[in-house]
Amino acid sequence: MALRIGVLALQGAFAEHVVMLGRLGVDPVEVRLPPQLSGLDALIIPGGESTSISLLMSEYGFLAPVENMAKSGFPVWGTCAGLIVLSRLTPGSYPHTMQVMDIEVKRNAFGRQVDSFETDLHIPGLGPDAFHGIFIRAPRISKVGAAVDVLCKLPDGEPVAARQGKLLCCSFHPELGNDTRFHRYFVDMVTTST
Ligand code: GLN
Repeated sequence: MALRIGVLALQGAFAEHVVMLGRLGVDPVEVRLPPQLSGLDALIIPGGESTSISLLMSEYGFLAPVENMAKSGFPVWGTCAGLIVLSRLTPGSYPHTMQVMDIEVKRNAFGRQVDSFETDLHIPGLGPDAFHGIFIRAPRISKVGAAVDVLCKLPDGEPVAARQGKLLCCSFHPELGNDTRFHRYFVDMVTTST
């Protein structure tokens, strides 16, 4: 039976993740209400606007169930705004986040929309070929806890992708473009026991 991976479809770039998962033979599920969480093998929280995603998660009753699932080893991948929702924000920042990943992030810390950028990334877990990273008003990961493995850094040493057990995050958008390797990495993470 195909894996069932949910993509939180409240706001943001969920449709692109659905297409990527479909290309990998996964059964993607657009998740709009909490009962749709049952029967899933994993969940993706997409990029978009973390204030909207977090508010809608709260309104629709997603925060507690997703937080509990993430804390009990259920695989969750947050991309860009999704990373923000999984992490801890620098003190005094908005919105409320789940804080399930032991990283601290600063929103929009690369600058304004005009400072969005694309760059080739070296991600050892994806093989030797560069992965094209698209950063759109991306957050910066300013602190990384001891239980977190950094999977990718910018040339200046700044972390842009990380993993903590079955929780995965990246500050760029692997769902934009044609390269399915990051999605394959997540699918492999979901299917392996370690
Ligand atoms: N700037 C957005 C935020 O802080 C994230 C942008 C994105 O997901 N591309 O929520």
